[in-house]
Amino acid sequence: MTEDTALPVLSIKNLYKSFGALKATDDVTLELYPGEIHALIGPNGAGKSTLIKQISGDYQSDNGSIHFFGQDMAGMGVAERARAGLGRTFQVSSLALEFSALRNVMLAVQSKAGSSFRFFKSVMNDKRLLDQARVMLAKVGLEDRADIPAAELSHGERRQLEIAIALALDPKVFLLDEPMAGMGPEGSKNLTNFLDGLRKQAPILLVEHDMDAVFSLADRISVLVYGRIIASGTVDEIRGHPAVREAYLGGEAT
Ligand code: ADP
Ligand code: MG
Repeated sequence: MTEDTALPVLSIKNLYKSFGALKATDDVTLELYPGEIHALIGPNGAGKSTLIKQISGDYQSDNGSIHFFGQDMAGMGVAERARAGLGRTFQVSSLALEFSALRNVMLAVQSKAGSSFRFFKSVMNDKRLLDQARVMLAKVGLEDRADIPAAELSHGERRQLEIAIALALDPKVFLLDEPMAGMGPEGSKNLTNFLDGLRKQAPILLVEHDMDAVFSLADRISVLVYGRIIASGTVDEIRGHPAVREAYLGGEAT
């Protein structure tokens, strides 16, 4: 690891977000360094998705700062942050189910290219953009499924497609909120292998419940409980951390 010398790609300081009386995130400080996977774990309702949305710009923070390559993200909306390279969360809901896998990726490539939806038809004839989209599908192992409507893809394949879309946006950071959710063991294993390589392209802030995946992938783990980071460290440090075991891992820790 290069923490000692490298500057953080993403630096979050003293971030807060409340919903009414509920403190969803409560003084969160964390950093993401080049080449690393930083996993964020914690029980349901701990504030993990809220934090991801604060970073992506979906939620405005009540307090604190987010710096991305040294630039203060305050006041920047979702689209502006995405253009700066802050990769958005994967969400099944972002797929256009009636469109083919290839068209779904094209929409992303197109949005990055800056053209508008109105020119969708002509973009589908743009060989260069089509080739780019096919490369993204091939990277996630969906090249044979390019012409299948997203609605007919299996759950695992849809998640692969979401990753192809994220890749098409060529972010400088990946913010992944439970990418393994709903995947079978084989899908999770494939995605784990894929994410392992992906960190070379851009560092990953990974929210994930699948502890096998987290323990095998993470360079560092932060544990969020009731909106607060109660521990941050290497896999071994977190596995052996008494407060973490008590608050979160319970008897399941191995
Ligand atoms: P996690 O992803 O760790 O399961 P969330 O960030 O989704 O947790 O939620 C943290 C807490 O904030 C929960 O109690 C949740 O109900 C609440 N919460 C999240 N988003 C909203 C919202 N938009 N409005 C009100 N409460 C919210
Ligand atoms: Mg969540």
